[in-house]
Amino acid sequence: MLLGDQAHIFLYEQAGMAQKLGGVQPHIIPNRADGTFDVSEIPARVRDEDVHCPRTALVCIENTQNVCGGKVIPLSWIDEVGSIAKSIGIPLHMDGARLMNAVIASGESAPRILQACETASICLSKGLGTPVGSVIVGSEEFMYKALRLRKVLGGGMRQAGMLAAAGLYAMDNMINRLADDHRHAQQLAQAIYGMGSRSVKCSPAEVHTNIAIVHLTTDIITPEQFCKRLLVVSEEEISEIGEVAIKVLPWTSDSVRFVTHFDVSSEGIEAAVAKLKYVISEVDSQLD
Ligand SMILES: *Cc1c(COP(=O)(O)O)cnc(C)c1O
Repeated sequence: MLLGDQAHIFLYEQAGMAQKLGGVQPHIIPNRADGTFDVSEIPARVRDEDVHCPRTALVCIENTQNVCGGKVIPLSWIDEVGSIAKSIGIPLHMDGARLMNAVIASGESAPRILQACETASICLSKGLGTPVGSVIVGSEEFMYKALRLRKVLGGGMRQAGMLAAAGLYAMDNMINRLADDHRHAQQLAQAIYGMGSRSVKCSPAEVHTNIAIVHLTTDIITPEQFCKRLLVVSEEEISEIGEVAIKVLPWTSDSVRFVTHFDVSSEGIEAAVAKLKYVISEVDSQLD
C-alpha cells in the first residue's frame, strides 16, 4: 500500500494493516504540510511483476489529514491521485475518519470528494460524536469481504440497533454543526495569532477545520509544561479570568494540538481564549 508518511493508519492503529489479518506492507511517501504528497511518487514507487518485489495493490489518502493539522485535501489533488491509480490499475482508498469535516469546510459533497475513490471509511465517533463506530463504503463485493473480516476480528454484531440509531442521529444532526467546531478552532487560532507572542504561535490560515496546532518557539516552556499550565488554575488568575482549565494534547517536541468538538460551547471557547491570553502573557513575561 502506498500512503503518506504522516498517515494515521501508518503511524497508529498498531499497524493493523501489517498484522495477520491485513498482511499489508505500508510503503510511505513523505507528506507535505498540506496533507498531500507528490503524485509523481505513485508511479515511481509502484512495484509489480519482479519476483523479488511485493505487489502494490492500493493507494490510500486521508481527508481531513489528522497529523498535518486537520487539513482539507484539495479536490483537484484527490482527482489526480485517483486518475493516476486508475491508469496503473490499483484502487484508491480514502481514510475519511474526518471526511465530514472536509465536507463542511470545503462545501463539496461527500460523493464529489470521493468520486475518484473505490472505497472509503468514515468515523461516526470523532467530530460526529457517537460513542463508537466507523462506516466503510465500497462495492457490494468489497462490502461482503469487509463483513467477513469484521466477523473474524470479533466484531460480529447482533443487537446493533442502538449503535445504528446513534449513527443515524449523527448523520441527521451532527454534520452541519461541525461548522461551530471549525469556527471555534479558528477563534483560538486568531486569538493566539493576535497576541503576536514570540514564544507561542499559531497560524489561522493553517487551521482548516477543528484542529489547531500551536507551536512553542522558545525553550522557556515545553509542550508538556504548557499543557499542564493550561489545566491548572492559579490563585492569581481567578480574580482576572475566573476558574478555567483547558485540556490540550502535547503533540510534537515543539507543538501542542487543540481539538474543538461538540462538548466545547461558544462560552467555553471564550473562556479558553481568556485563559490562553493569560498563560501566554505569563510565558512571554519570562522572555525579558
Ligand atoms: C480515528 C481514526 C481512524 C480509526 O477509526 P476507528 O473508528 O477507530 O476505527 C482511522 N484514521 C484516522 C485518520 C482516524 O483519525
